[in-house]
Amino acid sequence: MRADLHTHSNISDGTDAPGELVAKAAREGLDVVALTDHDTYAGLEEARRAATQIGIGFLPGIEISCRLGGVSVHLLGYGTGPEPALDAELAQVRASRADRLPEMLDRLAALGMPLSRDEVMRWVGDSPSVGRPHLADAMVARGYVASRDEAFRDWLAEGCPVYVDRYAIDLPRAVSLVLSAGGAPVIAHPWSRQSRAVLTPDVLAGLAAGGLVGIEVDHPDHDAGTRAELRPLAASLGVLATGSSDYHGLGKTRNDLGCETTPEPVLAALRARIAPGRAC
Ligand code: AMP
Ligand code: FE
Ligand code: FE
Ligand code: ZN
Repeated sequence: MRADLHTHSNISDGTDAPGELVAKAAREGLDVVALTDHDTYAGLEEARRAATQIGIGFLPGIEISCRLGGVSVHLLGYGTGPEPALDAELAQVRASRADRLPEMLDRLAALGMPLSRDEVMRWVGDSPSVGRPHLADAMVARGYVASRDEAFRDWLAEGCPVYVDRYAIDLPRAVSLVLSAGGAPVIAHPWSRQSRAVLTPDVLAGLAAGGLVGIEVDHPDHDAGTRAELRPLAASLGVLATGSSDYHGLGKTRNDLGCETTPEPVLAALRARIAPGRAC
């Protein structure tokens, strides 16, 4: 059984429509796929419909923008249902994603790379979750950079001249909101980029005590040594160790669908932590 539990459609910053993504997962021989767009549930219905039609297992999810100690951390929520406090937080994150765009466009213009809002919105399409990858796509289309990677490396990444901060949810609060929404919280790529510094074993133990269900161990951003440390840590904390690609379609190059997967017993344990009726 092969399950890929972390993917993005063009409802956030991936490039496949939700239904296309699910069809592709089936073609790649996956048995189960989860859609986890950034800060929105808007793609889940189309993905679920496609999964039913094609006959592949589906898990609804979301990847929530969080913050801990000033550092960005991503939390996967599986099977979350409507929860007013969580929904309000997500709406605030989405609004803040859109609000920072004018400032980023001003900075690009000052650097000699003018772009209109409409040009960027063409890449955002129907997505309610405006992201830096959309801005990167508009920069590529204008020939300012050759790829999303180059746009992030030189201009958009944290610490770069065009980076503008945005609202993110306090991580322990997000964990408890996902739990109150009947979902299972799992930290995405916990030791990628700067998040290793804040997600120490002690901090992870505290989150586990607060109901954290799992951590994503097998992820393209984690090298073999990182995984070899994280796997026993997950076991000692009594949380699940998941694995997934973080597929973004053409938007990321090292994240092919199914390149990392979650073992069947781990998926079963994860489903068991989701409120009845929400895990499909
Ligand atoms: P934002 O959601 O606007 O803060 O942008 C962050 C998103 O950009 C992440 O979720 C990644 O999907 C994406 N990202 C970060 N670094 C890169 C990169 N080097 N190339 C392509 N996408 C990236
Ligand atoms: Fe992304
Ligand atoms: Fe992420
Ligand atoms: Zn992701």
